[in-house]
Amino acid sequence: MSSEDLASLYQQVILDHSRERHGFGLQPTAIAQSHQINPTCGDEIRLQVHVDPSSGDVTSVSWEGQGCAISTASASVLTDIVENLSPEEMFTRIDHFRAVMRSKGAIAPDEQLLGDAVALQGVSRYVARIKCAMLPWVACEDAMHSATRQSGIAVNSPGLGVSGERIQR
Ligand code: ZN
Repeated sequence: MSSEDLASLYQQVILDHSRERHGFGLQPTAIAQSHQINPTCGDEIRLQVHVDPSSGDVTSVSWEGQGCAISTASASVLTDIVENLSPEEMFTRIDHFRAVMRSKGAIAPDEQLLGDAVALQGVSRYVARIKCAMLPWVACEDAMHSATRQSGIAVNSPGLGVSGERIQR
């Protein structure tokens, strides 16, 4: 497949996900959530994580928000890869996605880890759009830090995550 074919395939994946919005719709069962905005583009997202209380594994994420096709597609592809991941696996994927996004095309994404999110790799060449692609992943990371604090699961991960909102019951 030529690089042009690949680029148009990736563009189609991004368009499809921005329309289908997997995981869209907040749910009452979330253990933690995070609200993030990207003022340079006007993207906004509130993303929730759902965790199996016995294993501590992530069962799903759900989200609501509005923004450009890249931010929306990025939330949708993220939704597709989180099912039944331990917090460590989750942070590994977020870290890998961030490394790819910051690499200006130098780091090839691992499809095993990122699924359809590999379609966003071209975004890494456009500095202004990297925040659009990262927004849901930053929200997920932040919510995961809240979730792991809440559940008492010890996780070693670099990252942000001091402002995640714990959901009161
Ligand atoms: Zn955007």
